[in-house]
Amino acid sequence: MVETLSIAVIGAPGVGKTSIIRQFIYNDFSEVYTPTRTRYVYRPSVILNGNMYELKILDVPPISSFPSSSSQEWLDLRCRGVRNANAYILVYDICCVESFEYVKMIRQQIVEHREGSSSEVPILVVGNKRDLQRQRFMPRRAVSVLVKKTWKCGYVECSAKFNWHVVLLFKELLGIAVARGLRQNHTSIRLQGALQRNRCTIM
Ligand code: GDP
Ligand code: MG
Repeated sequence: MVETLSIAVIGAPGVGKTSIIRQFIYNDFSEVYTPTRTRYVYRPSVILNGNMYELKILDVPPISSFPSSSSQEWLDLRCRGVRNANAYILVYDICCVESFEYVKMIRQQIVEHREGSSSEVPILVVGNKRDLQRQRFMPRRAVSVLVKKTWKCGYVECSAKFNWHVVLLFKELLGIAVARGLRQNHTSIRLQGALQRNRCTIM
């Protein structure tokens, strides 16, 4: 029995969403910026604490807001699957305050627009480009306290460029999701193809 977890990766353009995902799955990084124009789905498998999970990672192209209704989600192809994701990774660039403001807005909208107990969905805020930390706009400790204590989200800093803390952030998110009862919400039996070469990460 393999459990499936859909994770939507959202953030302002250029913060490193695609780089984080590609580093996680393919150990690959490109200095050249290729803007993501359409929604892209990656389906790696991971093993955490001896259990296998199939991830459905949505690389979400820039959206002006979190879809406020199912119809809005269906009208805008970029948002497909975003409302019903099992977990969110909200990425910002530690050197760009506007990208943090964007994450703040999306976090607020997730809480407002998802109904009932589903508003308590796991959210991990990720500060990327840690290798450029001399240019950061706010000390790590201050952001971490704000995000964890006030927003009640997880917080990790990483560098997609140097593959630093990239596995850790997925491990952290999966850990939160499993602790919150992923088991009851989402099960499937799709073992076939799960262990393709380069697509299974043991965390
Ligand atoms: P996206 O628009 O959020 O998907 O951003 P991309 O993943 O396409 O990355 C945007 C640009 O930032 C690219 O030129 C990447 O090479 C660069 N980039 C991504 N992650 C890092 C990082 O950790 N450190 C540095 N220095 N550059 C990064
Ligand atoms: Mg992208």
